[in-house]
Amino acid sequence: MSLLELQGVEARYGEIRALHGVTLTVDEGDFVALLGANGAGKTTTLRAVSGTVKTSGDVLLDGQKLFRRTPEAMARRGVAHVPEGRGTFSTLSVLDNLRLGAWVHGNAEPRELAHVFEFFPRLYERRLQQAGLLSGGEQQMLALGRAMMARPRLLLLDEPSLGLAPRVAREIFGVLGRKNETGTTIVVVEQNATLALEAAQHAFVLETGRVVLGGDAADLRKNESVRRSYLGY
Ligand code: ATP
Repeated sequence: MSLLELQGVEARYGEIRALHGVTLTVDEGDFVALLGANGAGKTTTLRAVSGTVKTSGDVLLDGQKLFRRTPEAMARRGVAHVPEGRGTFSTLSVLDNLRLGAWVHGNAEPRELAHVFEFFPRLYERRLQQAGLLSGGEQQMLALGRAMMARPRLLLLDEPSLGLAPRVAREIFGVLGRKNETGTTIVVVEQNATLALEAAQHAFVLETGRVVLGGDAADLRKNESVRRSYLGY
């Protein structure tokens, strides 16, 4: 059964229609990339799932239609969303930011913290430092680490490589790949299509609020229009 299904999802911001009926399916354990030009609706698609934008159409988790999709309710169902811009608490320490990530379970478990530090040794070294003083790459690691503290089944990430040096972006995607291998389902919006299509198993291409193409990442890498529009060769 699919973990996540969007059926004809529409969303608008006032007069602006951002999604014109997005339909897509994500299987349990999948690693999915959402590609598309600026303004295609990728961010809004993630927001439609986590409940941070009002939508019509159906969003199903485990085949069940979700009616009350507040961010809190979605977090309790195992959906973690790392928005673009990271959203960590800059005046709190790295450790406190990570602890806050576990709010949905009450307290942060030492086991979970150890798990995050295993993925990101740099965060362990910086654990007592204020989050606002971290480098861009470290802040992205912290945002991801904080989301991992919630032990999500489904991790939604918006532009995790934005503004990062290529090596750091690869490091982040390496962690996502390892996390996916442990069973976490991942949906990532990513401008760096080369990186995204290397890491993902499946991908969807959005254009003006609709899915226009979808399939195996390996096949999409060979697709003429994907290569021309997103891979640049
Ligand atoms: P990008 O790659 O530039 O982040 P995107 O594919 O993620 O783009 P969205 O951010 O989902 O696209 O935006 C879809 C459409 O909705 C765009 O036309 C955008 O201008 C509009 N939009 C997004 N957020 C808002 C908002 N808060 N208020 C008004 N319009 C918005």
